[in-house]
Amino acid sequence: MGAVPKHRISPRRKAKRRTHYKLQPVALVRCAHCEAYHRPHHMCPTCGTYRGIEIIAIED
Ligand SMILES: [Zn+2]
Repeated sequence: MGAVPKHRISPRRKAKRRTHYKLQPVALVRCAHCEAYHRPHHMCPTCGTYRGIEIIAIED
């Protein structure tokens, strides 16, 4: 026996469930080094640093 649905979900119930689905705004934090915005837990693409220290080479 598998986990097989016993009943078809009605269109209304499906729509109700999907009212909780929404797009989240893109998370951004301020770079400690150059103050540009970048994604949290990611290297800053503007100056190539992460948490203000690790320098990973940025040309130009
Ligand atoms: Zn930066």
